Amino acid sequence: MSRKLIVDVLVCGGGSAGIVAALAAARNGAETLVVEKAPFAGGIITATGLPFFDGIAHAETHEVVVRGIPFEIGVRMGLCQPGDTHIRPHNPRIRNIEKFKLLTDELLTSRPNLQVLYHTSVCDVKADGGRIRHVMIANKDGLVTVEAKQIIDATGDGDVAAWSGSEVDKNDPLMPMTMHFRVGHVHARKGLGSEAREHLLRAQDRGELPMFYGPAIMFAFAKDEAYFHAIRVAGDGTDAADLTRAEIQGRKDAWTIFRILKTNLPEFADSYFIGSGPFIGIRETRRLVGQYVMTEDDALTSRHFDDAVATGCWYLDVHPNTTTLGSANDTERVQPSPYDIPYRALLSKDVSNLAVAGRCHSATALAASSTRVNVTAMAMGEAAGTAAALAVEANDELGQLDGTKVRERLEFVNAGPTR
Ligand SMILES: Cc1cc2nc3c(=O)[nH]c(=O)nc-3n(C[C@H](O)[C@H](O)[C@H](O)COP(=O)(O)OP(=O)(O)OC[C@H]3O[C@@H](n4cnc5c(N)ncnc54)[C@H](O)[C@@H]3O)c2cc1C
Repeated sequence: MSRKLIVDVLVCGGGSAGIVAALAAARNGAETLVVEKAPFAGGIITATGLPFFDGIAHAETHEVVVRGIPFEIGVRMGLCQPGDTHIRPHNPRIRNIEKFKLLTDELLTSRPNLQVLYHTSVCDVKADGGRIRHVMIANKDGLVTVEAKQIIDATGDGDVAAWSGSEVDKNDPLMPMTMHFRVGHVHARKGLGSEAREHLLRAQDRGELPMFYGPAIMFAFAKDEAYFHAIRVAGDGTDAADLTRAEIQGRKDAWTIFRILKTNLPEFADSYFIGSGPFIGIRETRRLVGQYVMTEDDALTSRHFDDAVATGCWYLDVHPNTTTLGSANDTERVQPSPYDIPYRALLSKDVSNLAVAGRCHSATALAASSTRVNVTAMAMGEAAGTAAALAVEANDELGQLDGTKVRERLEFVNAGPTR
């Protein structure tokens, strides 16, 4: 392979937003490359082991609010049927995360104009004159220069945006990270979570567990396999040393919880530790300060935007850096009706050939606590990928496209906002 790649569209990161962005760009005719640092796509879904497809339907009315590629993926994973207008569970979930890896492999190799490179990290960006000239990637070929006409930052962390000189923001404090883990051969029964909570509280008092939430012990994958939402580690996922410390702490806490429950609850007596991660889950890091910064008020009042390109609907979901019992949040649930996400909330105001999709798009921290869920991130990805292909086609720039034209193109393939 040569040390230089030339493509129309480069998608950085193959998580929820990146998978869909890459597919949308390729289906709209652009020569597309997607690079992903993990050996598989899927982002938090596969890298942290999270089966939930929140944002596909409103949690209270169950009305489907997302169509296009994210809905198609939901159908392929057996979460819904073509034509469904309502999806009932509060947290719609896929049954098998390994199968999601297979599906994303299939999708990302489904077209001759789409290439995926796993084990590939974006490591630098060269920008001048308000444009990205090239992106540096690192993999087994060494350092490779990628020249792309249009770039989509779907790294979740806004790596490309930050390194291109685009303005970014970071909340203080950031929401905690979570290491998910699974334990096999557990006897499921009602009330297990609340009994476990008492033992974990005692462990916290003894100084064995810094903090936790829930715990939510779910039997999401098999009837004797406990899947834990419990660990909380404070830190910054864009600081290499902090991230390493968080991985170490998260793994340690997972084993501490396992040991405590195995020792104290008969349902865990014959259990064994299946695995954690493989990556700790990062909820929040950088957010773009883009052409428009979406606010919680926009979401809660369902403000109309002419350039709406996606629809969100999840509640304001902030995890605090403290122990919370039973629930993940320590505030009343604030649930918006379906709301618009404008095209300008994906655009850098400083760099013309860059769009940012997924949890690092341009929004206040509170608005992003709603827009960050998986299917809303996918919907933003479809908008960004479609826009990037449109920009290439028109010899234009992402940052200068009219969002209503992006919306029209999405509409043409029965995708985009639903309100
Ligand atoms: C612990 C936890 C629990 C959650 N629970 C839920 C839930 O129940 N329901 C729900 O819907 N959402 C949930 N979320 C939120 C949701 O999963 C994420 O916000 C969503 O995945 C965001 O999608 P994304 O594409 O922006 O980022 P990600 O899914 O994180 O994807 C980013 C991708 O970019 C890659 N990447 C990063 N940097 C680079 C780089 N420099 N070079 C190359 N690749 C790179 C990463 O490996 C990753 O694959 C949870 C998140 C966490 C962390």
